[in-house]
Amino acid sequence: MNHDDLAYWSKRAADWARAYHASLRERPVRPDIDPGAFRARIEAPVPEEPEPIERIFDDFTRLVPDAMTHWQHPRFFAYFPANAAPASMLAEQLANAMAAQAMLWQTAPAANEMEALVIDWLRAGLGLPEGFTGTIHDSATTATFSAVLTMREKALGFEGVAKGLSSMPRLRLYASAEAHSSVDKAARLSGIGQENLVRVPTRPGDPLHSMDPEALDSAIRADLAAGLRPAGVILATGGTSIGACDDIAACIPVAKAHGLPTHVDAAWAGSAMIAPEFRRLWEGVEAADSIVFNPHKWLGAQFDASVQFLRDPAPQIATMGLRPDYLKTPGAETVVNYNEWTLPLGRRFRALKIWFLLRAEGLSGLRQRIRNHVAWAEEAAAAIARLDGFEVVTGPILSLFTFRFRDDATTERLLEAVNRDGRIYLTQTRHDGRYVIRVQVGQFDCTREDVMMIPTVLQELAGRI
Ligand SMILES: *Cc1c(COP(=O)(O)O)cnc(C)c1O
Repeated sequence: MNHDDLAYWSKRAADWARAYHASLRERPVRPDIDPGAFRARIEAPVPEEPEPIERIFDDFTRLVPDAMTHWQHPRFFAYFPANAAPASMLAEQLANAMAAQAMLWQTAPAANEMEALVIDWLRAGLGLPEGFTGTIHDSATTATFSAVLTMREKALGFEGVAKGLSSMPRLRLYASAEAHSSVDKAARLSGIGQENLVRVPTRPGDPLHSMDPEALDSAIRADLAAGLRPAGVILATGGTSIGACDDIAACIPVAKAHGLPTHVDAAWAGSAMIAPEFRRLWEGVEAADSIVFNPHKWLGAQFDASVQFLRDPAPQIATMGLRPDYLKTPGAETVVNYNEWTLPLGRRFRALKIWFLLRAEGLSGLRQRIRNHVAWAEEAAAAIARLDGFEVVTGPILSLFTFRFRDDATTERLLEAVNRDGRIYLTQTRHDGRYVIRVQVGQFDCTREDVMMIPTVLQELAGRI
């Protein structure tokens, strides 16, 4: 295959993509397929001789889509969305065409400077004050891990990276009981350890399920009294399970009173902050040291793109950055080399899809979608609450709520029936020890009719259980 073929097949791929997207409502959101069945269909020895691209392309269209879960399906209400606005898909094609590796300013000047610009656009778009800079990671897991490594090094006077942890004091991290598992992963992999991640209880009866600031303060005091060394506090805006939002305005002063850095995980809910009426959910966020949100979730930047805002990048650069001789470039003091802010050395040109997205949709277009999703989620939750035997258990917080049907076992059977049916796709979680079904509304192309299909399908299937 050469570049003339590439031009031809790119057009074929674009036509296929258009037909694929147009077909989504006719497809089940999740394929009806057994583990191993797909591999059996493509099983073959490693190709020794070249094959014509026609045949490869044909195998793709014949075999792959039917064995995929369709994340761009307008009735995908599981997990959180991984939206891909057409403009961001186009940008990815262009980034692919240049196939640049953006580790240093010098290896991709436009990518580097566009990254700084889109970080600033997003900062302003989310209503954060000037002064925050930031960078683009692959995932919120990596951003939170970077923030926790930086907390560790701050607590150790930046000696951990050189000396290792074996002779260091025992560090402690604090997060709410509702924090995402990426916080556990960061505690484990940073060498701080799972047992040193303190899960602070939430305020009883709080509809936002926020961390109790007094319990946070007591936990830090108890650790200090026991001779342990607190390293930082991780707060959540829009937890994954039920959308929990910590009271940031109350918790950050507690952290600051003990001299601790803070990181806010708003991986999903951060996108909603382009609408001013939702910013009360992270009131006080401007005092955070680090904030993560994923434009690849609700906002519409094709997966993957996770933005970390930083009040001061210097501690993270002191933690993550290395400048061996072979990475030195002239003028390195006057340019930003983002690999020093992040975990991998090699970096994709992720800023391009955010630049395309924000320009092609405008904040106003994106805001309208998110407002619709929140309004439709509220409407769907109210409709489900009216169904016989159904109970809305949490929320809606933004566009996420949970419900159950009669008891744990029946709820689980209903979820299986829903996902076998295929018209909508939902997933489960546990809340207060009970099995509940999650609903999030946020797919880029979903309409009110798609969302109101949820109560319709539930009522129909519940009648058969
Ligand atoms: C999705 C999510 C994460 C993990 O995001 P990745 O980018 O997949 O690593 C972390 N925290 C919250 C609150 C999330 O919603």
